[in-house]
Amino acid sequence: MFRHMGPFGTNSGRPAAVGRPWLGVRFDCAGVYVRVYRNPNANAYLAQCPACGQSVRFRVGPGGTAERFFTVSCGQSRYTRRR
Ligand SMILES: [Zn+2]
Repeated sequence: MFRHMGPFGTNSGRPAAVGRPWLGVRFDCAGVYVRVYRNPNANAYLAQCPACGQSVRFRVGPGGTAERFFTVSCGQSRYTRRR
């Protein structure tokens, strides 16, 4: 018996997020790729590296970028080090 199949017969157990914009961001130091959803209060996406905690903000919309995939070179010494 596989209870995780769910009543809909698909593997998508997520609530419908149709139309909700997102960006793909890869963090170099963590080596992971995360999906970032837009901040509902602003035309910006706020992504945070799970490894070093570096947060990066992406502006979108008019005057912003149309790109959807980014790579962040975080965890490098050119950023201010945490104490
Ligand atoms: Zn990082």
